[in-house]
Amino acid sequence: MTEYRRLRVALLGAGSVGAQVADMLRTHADELADRAGAALDLIGVAVRDVDAPRDVALPRELLTTDADELIKGADIVIELMGGIEPARSRILAALGSGADVVTANKALLATHGPEIFDAAEQVGATVSYEAAVAAAIPIIRPLRDSLAGDRIRRIFGIINGSTNFILDKMDREQLSAQEAATLATELGYLEADPTLDVEGYDAAQKAAILASLAFHTAVPLDAVHREGITGIDAAAIDDARRAGRVIKLIAVCERVADDDGDAISVRVYPALLPREHPLASVHGGNNAVFVQAEAAGDLMFYGAGAGGVQTASAVLGDVVSAARRHLAGGIGVGESTRANLPMLPFGRICTRYQITLEVRDAPGVLAEVSGILSDGNVSIATVEQRASGAEDLDEGDSTAHLVIGTHRAREQDLSDTVDRLAASGVVRRVVSVLRVEGD
Ligand code: NAP
Repeated sequence: MTEYRRLRVALLGAGSVGAQVADMLRTHADELADRAGAALDLIGVAVRDVDAPRDVALPRELLTTDADELIKGADIVIELMGGIEPARSRILAALGSGADVVTANKALLATHGPEIFDAAEQVGATVSYEAAVAAAIPIIRPLRDSLAGDRIRRIFGIINGSTNFILDKMDREQLSAQEAATLATELGYLEADPTLDVEGYDAAQKAAILASLAFHTAVPLDAVHREGITGIDAAAIDDARRAGRVIKLIAVCERVADDDGDAISVRVYPALLPREHPLASVHGGNNAVFVQAEAAGDLMFYGAGAGGVQTASAVLGDVVSAARRHLAGGIGVGESTRANLPMLPFGRICTRYQITLEVRDAPGVLAEVSGILSDGNVSIATVEQRASGAEDLDEGDSTAHLVIGTHRAREQDLSDTVDRLAASGVVRRVVSVLRVEGD
């Protein structure tokens, strides 16, 4: 048997992901040593409560509540506690003591990424975070390494499994939003506080990380436009289905030519996709990410976007890389943010829209609506009129639904136009405005 140098690995956290990582480090020790070129000795696992029940049984002597002591003398520190503090301070302490760091903490990287990457650069260590976006799916390393010689134009995908699960259940099993959310909670897709997922915060954090990496520019979380799925009801899902479409929570990271040169747009919102689009068949809690690169063309990454053991796979891949680097010595690969591209204001993005209006069913209404759209620089691609059947007996006229599909329009023009439509005498209610992507 090969005698390897031994590296000391400290694990912070033994929850859904950490317990699986600890288990795989121990049960796959020989294979991991052969791949890393070093024996990976798990020297301890920091938790809050050493007596708490674990998904996987761990030797009692490995568990400790003293994370600070554990970090000292470790070659590799794996942070799987989650949250901002004390994860941030412990990662900085680990880097300060010469360790390489592996983390899955998207919330921390999206808010304190530059501070952590700067600290790593100061000491020549690496911070690896494949599991922070789309869990088991390799997406960070392809962006950071495989595509480092290319220029990425667009990343487009489903990067939050919980909301995809909810929208998928509403679409395929005709559940109400509430029923789908209850099921997602029962099956562990949603946290006790579901806001992070359903309001799009989780997807926005991941989008900020992907955009920073793809465009070599530090993208702050507050520059990401974020809308969640709470406005999507069963009626919207039914309408989409009838029109041959599906609603998905989409993240878009784009490099676009603006008036003063290239700029970046990063946004998360629910959007209509054609049913034949590959993202339409991403079901349940899965994730999928399209990358469009200038030379490589279109690439698609697909798989499990969450889950303890799936996420542990990505973490262990990073641990093996970190071990190789640690053995090789030298300076770790830092994050490149030197392109420093400006952020495109959200009002300047261009996309297509579907506007659903409840209007008076009377002669001249369509002409007036068309006039308002045309005055606002919003060009109509399709119009469908449906009688809603609702009679307004007082006024003696009935109501119709207009479903208007637009050509590409500027967000600001669209939003001003919708305000004018809402204020016009012919529109009774703006039922919904959804962006249309993917065709
Ligand atoms: P989790 O189940 O909540 O586990 C957190 C662990 O950290 C627990 O073992 C907890 O100890 C420990 N911990 C928390 N605060 C601590 C503190 N102050 N000091 C010491 N230990 C502390 O979390 P998780 O689902 O495994 O997620 C871990 C990380 O992976 C997060 O950053 C998450 O965003 C990321 N991630 C998770 C998934 C997934 O599918 N779960 C997917 C991708 C990324 P106790 O057990 O004693 O309470």
